[in-house]
Amino acid sequence: MGKVAIVKCSEYEEKLVDGKVREAIGLLGGIENFISKGDTVLIKPNVLRASSPEAHVTTHPLVVKSVVKMVQEAGGIPTIMDMTWVGSLHSTKKALAETGLMDVGKELGVEVKGFEENGWVKVKVNGKIFRELYAPKFLMAADKVISLPKMKTHLEGIITGAIKNWFGCVPMKFRRIGHSMSIDEIADAFVDVYLMREPDLVLMDGVVGMEGNGPINGELKKVGLLLAAKDSVELDRTMSKIIGIEDVPMLKRAKERRIGQGEIEIVGEKIEDVITPFKKPVTVAHKIPKTFRRAMMAVMGSGLEINKSKCTKCLDCVKYCPVTAIKFTKWPEIDKQKCILCFGCAEICPVEAIEITASPVKESLQSLRKFLKL
Ligand code: SF4
Ligand code: SF4
Repeated sequence: MGKVAIVKCSEYEEKLVDGKVREAIGLLGGIENFISKGDTVLIKPNVLRASSPEAHVTTHPLVVKSVVKMVQEAGGIPTIMDMTWVGSLHSTKKALAETGLMDVGKELGVEVKGFEENGWVKVKVNGKIFRELYAPKFLMAADKVISLPKMKTHLEGIITGAIKNWFGCVPMKFRRIGHSMSIDEIADAFVDVYLMREPDLVLMDGVVGMEGNGPINGELKKVGLLLAAKDSVELDRTMSKIIGIEDVPMLKRAKERRIGQGEIEIVGEKIEDVITPFKKPVTVAHKIPKTFRRAMMAVMGSGLEINKSKCTKCLDCVKYCPVTAIKFTKWPEIDKQKCILCFGCAEICPVEAIEITASPVKESLQSLRKFLKL
């Protein structure tokens, strides 16, 4: 039988959060149940974009800090890693600083990095959508992995909890594939990526969540809870009951695929005592026919271009590319069919000759979407 811990935590005050994180993990048997001395431990919060902790778009740094301290006390060697929705190291580094995670790392002597920094490794998955994915090398190599999602709603996933937190582990190409599918296919894609390397422990920051049109433009919702579990699906099933949104495609797909469907023992607070109904996201995106959306994605998609006036032909990009998508004849050339949009070549180019391009159509649609709060 699975176990999900529900603990009340009324505000982001350091001592309070630290005590409550310890209480939640303690209800699952303590950190020693998950971490052994000498384990390398990847801690993945939700660092969707560069925004301050007060915006509540990302996992709060105090929650991350407490988990890092507990891992250190258990003798583990933690590293905090994530990647933004833009999927470039520049944006990830900015986000890791703005969200307060760099400060956590400095204070506790822990590395804070973007997934892009350690490169990617090909992973076979027995998925419904994906048979093969590229995963961060560190994710696949770490002895233990801890997921720290944020309690929010999501325009495409309906909720962004523990399963969806894992979609942030794959390069842009796979995430873009997801955004051009039907809602059921997207749900399967989320589950496929989650199965690539399931976390060993999940702790959800639900002190202040987000309802409505999350994960960025929703309305803040004070929930006052932390949830913890070993199993991400069981945690999301519990979250969906608490927020009163149980019609969640990725949870339905997980059920049909018999993933995380054991009985759940709730420890700590009872679900019925902490019910906090959330507004559902309102989206029109999935009413647009799939073929039309695929065509739109093709037009809107970002890409990479080599700026020949800057390139010194050092070949670093050719050597780096994890999928050998860069050929060198007279100049480096990117094979767009092979490229997984990890943006690693753009990051390592010593003269910034590889430029990330976004079409004007994409930019105008993004502004329109922001304006309409879609
Ligand atoms: S890394 Fe930059 S400078 Fe070197 S070959 Fe590639 S594009 Fe040119
Ligand atoms: S070409 Fe660049 S962005 Fe594309 S997969 Fe290779 S390193 Fe990544």
